[in-house]
Amino acid sequence: PLTEQEALAAAAPALKARLLANENPFGPSEKAKRAIADSVANCYQYPAQSRELAQKIADYEGLTPEHILLDAGSSPLLLAAAMHYGQKGGIMTGDPSYADLTRKAEKFKAPIVAVPLTADYKLDLDAMEKQLDARTALVYICNPNNPTGTVLDTAKLKGFVERVSPKTPIFIDEAYIDYLPDPRGASMMAAVKQGQNVLVARTFSKLYGFAGLRVGYVVGQPDTIKLLSQYAVGPMSISAPAVQAALVSYQDQTYMQEALQKTLASRQFLCDTLKREGYEYIPSSANFVMFPLKMDGKRFVDEMMKRGVGVRNWQFAGKQWCRVSIGRMDEMQAFAAAFGQVS
Ligand code: PLP
Repeated sequence: PLTEQEALAAAAPALKARLLANENPFGPSEKAKRAIADSVANCYQYPAQSRELAQKIADYEGLTPEHILLDAGSSPLLLAAAMHYGQKGGIMTGDPSYADLTRKAEKFKAPIVAVPLTADYKLDLDAMEKQLDARTALVYICNPNNPTGTVLDTAKLKGFVERVSPKTPIFIDEAYIDYLPDPRGASMMAAVKQGQNVLVARTFSKLYGFAGLRVGYVVGQPDTIKLLSQYAVGPMSISAPAVQAALVSYQDQTYMQEALQKTLASRQFLCDTLKREGYEYIPSSANFVMFPLKMDGKRFVDEMMKRGVGVRNWQFAGKQWCRVSIGRMDEMQAFAAAFGQVS
């Protein structure tokens, strides 16, 4: 499967509904846009304020800046983890899950163990734990999972992390955690605070609406962060306007709640549309919804694209699937109109 960025690059430039890369059209916030405009005059300076951003995140999480590595989005940090752990051994992941880290690790000859999801399309933690062995260098857990939108039971994930991490490090990709009703409760940041061998990746690309601005970070034990930073450019890759925008956006609850409510309204409209057309879907905890198709996936995507609606297709569990990212209401309406013709 393509990454979100590759899918966009391959798509038609003029889309009525851009529903193929899990972006957030409700961001960035007005405050972020003002911060960007205000910072332009000082762009001759290197982005030293990334230190302030690391401190702000550390304060919120009860950690130190040494626990945090910032970079231009979380993609460079997935690459750093792929390089570091992919040279040590194998990577375990879900099937399907976000394939960026594993695909990069394969370039370093890392064997990939992709464990099929449960019957309700969640990462199968029990099966993953059973299949772990001394050759596994890293377990990659995407929670909520892309592309299925499913979220793990927090207590179950906590237990998994406590049992597995003393033997094998775990990379938890929380790109979509901000879409949950209680992100703090569902996050594995507490495991980092307790000294466990986990890495937690976060991005501003999703709920904060920064996909084009590029700010992300990974949180872990300071020794591990040092090891990973050998393979990352780090905070120097983030432009000063993006840093300023992140500083005013981070945990801006007013903006976050508004963007979340708009996303949930569009998601509900999409689910109602699918139901009305006689389709099932996987209940989603993120800004995208996966549903099984009744026709060939590639043909479906091509027909939707002809109508200016960009979506993506997958094949797993013996079915053809479509993933629709959540957009503005007019985009969801464009999806509904095209879907009525194509399905
Ligand atoms: N992790 C997951 C699960 C994603 O879906 C994406 C992008 O869609 C990323 C990481 C990378 O995003 P970014 O590099 O913009 O932080």
